[in-house]
Amino acid sequence: MDISIITTYRCNSRCSMCNIWKNPTHPDYEVDLETLEKLPAGFDYLNITGGEPTLRKDLLSICHTLAPKTKTLEISTNGLNGDVLESVVRKYPNIKIRISVEGLDGKNDVIRGERNGFEKKLETMKRLIAAGGKDLGFATTFQDENSDQIVVLYQLAESLHVELATSALHNGFQFHKNDNQIYDRVRVAKQVEFLVTEMLSSWKVKTWFRAYLNLGLIAKILGQQRLHPCKQGTDSVFVDPWGDVYACNVRNDLHMGNLRTQSWQEIYQGDVAQAVRSKVTECPQNCWMVSSAKTAIRNKHFARLPKTSVLRWVLINKLKLLVGRSIAFERYVDYAHVPDSSGATRRVSYLERPEKKVLQPEESRRYTQLDSYFNR
Ligand code: SF4
Repeated sequence: MDISIITTYRCNSRCSMCNIWKNPTHPDYEVDLETLEKLPAGFDYLNITGGEPTLRKDLLSICHTLAPKTKTLEISTNGLNGDVLESVVRKYPNIKIRISVEGLDGKNDVIRGERNGFEKKLETMKRLIAAGGKDLGFATTFQDENSDQIVVLYQLAESLHVELATSALHNGFQFHKNDNQIYDRVRVAKQVEFLVTEMLSSWKVKTWFRAYLNLGLIAKILGQQRLHPCKQGTDSVFVDPWGDVYACNVRNDLHMGNLRTQSWQEIYQGDVAQAVRSKVTECPQNCWMVSSAKTAIRNKHFARLPKTSVLRWVLINKLKLLVGRSIAFERYVDYAHVPDSSGATRRVSYLERPEKKVLQPEESRRYTQLDSYFNR
């Protein structure tokens, strides 16, 4: 199974679609190595995330503690701290690094509130490539503001021989956000169709399955049912900076336990975890979060292989493209019944906008948007 460790809620980006940066944790109270040591070995993927994990002064020690516990160790980062990332890649060349980028040049900077952010990320990526990184990539979140650059970002990643991981705008209590909505769902979904076609036209098998994950994002963007049931809490969990374990980062009521005060076995095999899993089975949210999508399309016997239905979709549509036909997206997603979200709250850029940060105290574990999962 997969696990995401949110090592900090400090962040040096100021994104329009996430309010973590406004609610930073105090470094003295963030999950420590002793707590992380309690995790068992044998994970398939372990993601070190945030906030911005490179702000942790002990990031190398965190990697040292967690690397033996997983087949694939990943860092999700904004890529602004190139020095830190380069030192990690030099020590762990196989580590998976995904740098968040929301568009080219000014587009990225406006969405993520990062001065010269795009330039810095590109420079960091080139440094990591030169340092011998073996599993590098960008990660982007589809939204109205960058939907016209989705394919361009993919082509940028291809030109550097790195991957492009994708997700769609969503809400979550851990993002302190409940008003993220795509304003023009059909327009954004149609742009993602181009990416799906482009990915399936490549000659990298792994990219074909990324195309399928993006088909799932089209369904999410259109406000429709997930393509596969969610298995959060069983196949994937999140640990927050206070050691609290949640089935996912969207619903705050899926709390499974605390790694500081309990053992992993107590949490994962306990009655609370079982009750949480029942809630997940009935979850109406239909999100297609990366963690829940990746695990949902996996073969239940061989975690590194896809489900048969996914394999079938890939093969049928790859063959179609090979003989010059196009993918019939309307067979998989419903463009006729799309909820109207044109009146949704407009996101604002924090690039030039002053905003106060509120340091979170140790005990209160302040999450400000506890009803976020009711809003799709
Ligand atoms: S579908 Fe429900 S349980 Fe699954 S990740 Fe989304 S909000 Fe969490």
